[in-house]
Amino acid sequence: MQQSSRPCPADIPLCCYGNRPQIVTTMGAPTGHRLGHPCPALIHIECHMCQKATVPSPSLAITELRWTDPTLDQLLIPISHLTRARAEVLAGLPKQAA
Ligand SMILES: [Zn+2]
Repeated sequence: MQQSSRPCPADIPLCCYGNRPQIVTTMGAPTGHRLGHPCPALIHIECHMCQKATVPSPSLAITELRWTDPTLDQLLIPISHLTRARAEVLAGLPKQAA
């Protein structure tokens, strides 16, 4: 697995003043990933000061919405849950046509 991160762009509101949330892209299959299942790069936003992150998504637009829309706060999870959440998202994607 490979991760790359970059600071959130200026148009994304901060969670708390002075925090520096990051947009993180994770590529590659997690441990236990089943062959034949799709494995797109997944994106999430995380803040180590708040110890929270968005549920990962293949879409940057969806990720930004999850971070910024207060009505979607059920899609914010503790950073420590990210690995499991990523595996669940991948397992829930429709299987690619052979
Ligand atoms: Zn924060």
